[in-house]
Amino acid sequence: MADAVRLRGVEYKWGPRDPFCLSVSEFEVSRGERLLLLGASGSGKSTLLSLLTGIALAQAGSLEILGQPLDELGSSGRDRFRAEHFGIIFQMFNLLPYGSVVDNVLLPLSFAPRRRARATASGGMESEGRRLLSALGLPAGIGKQTAATLSVGQQQRVATARALIGSPEIIVADEPTSALDDDRQQDFLDLLFGQIEATGATLIMVSHDRRLTQHFTRVIQLNDILTTSKCKSDTR
Ligand code: ADP
Ligand code: MG
Repeated sequence: MADAVRLRGVEYKWGPRDPFCLSVSEFEVSRGERLLLLGASGSGKSTLLSLLTGIALAQAGSLEILGQPLDELGSSGRDRFRAEHFGIIFQMFNLLPYGSVVDNVLLPLSFAPRRRARATASGGMESEGRRLLSALGLPAGIGKQTAATLSVGQQQRVATARALIGSPEIIVADEPTSALDDDRQQDFLDLLFGQIEATGATLIMVSHDRRLTQHFTRVIQLNDILTTSKCKSDTR
């Protein structure tokens, strides 16, 4: 079976004159791995996640997700691929503030027929959404509240339920604990890992926080996969 992630010789700059260039010669993540990628602020963690999820397209190199080369998909193809195969927990959670909690959780299913089918098969989309909310420690009845009324810790759990719904193969989390105090971080990670283990999903979390390491099957430093030489495209 193809790796979850396989990346070769990738280079990426946000803009032609941007001094920052992400350059990674080799990076792989096997299916079922739970990987923590550590790096200082500004080192390129969010940029790498944008590349893996096809939000940004590398200027050089190849990137395959679940065996699919991302550069063979157009922009709308990458959007569909992302919706179907990735659950993404963004750093700022990106909930729709005026949508209800349940609507926020069910949102990815509108763009992902296979996830929708899986969520429906397990007893209906709404009840699957509510099951996840409760598994993540949220009170029954929170589903009708609008997202704007939630605490930060609650928003994070709703964003996590949204990432998990319909069991996408890969869960990507961008510093999801950075807004929480230590106790709540630990609680949150226990709940997240409980759900990930139940579905066998691959988890890729990025963080600057070295205290998170205990749950993961592999911990690497972003610096260890970055090529220190300048991007080749810099010389063009
Ligand atoms: P980290 O997530 O490790 O803090 P980032 O990937 O956000 O690092 O940042 C690496 C570099 O990419 C920084 O110079 C940052 O300004 C730039 N960058 C990040 N996201 C964007 C974006 N959406 N548009 C333009 N530049 C960006
Ligand atoms: Mg970041």
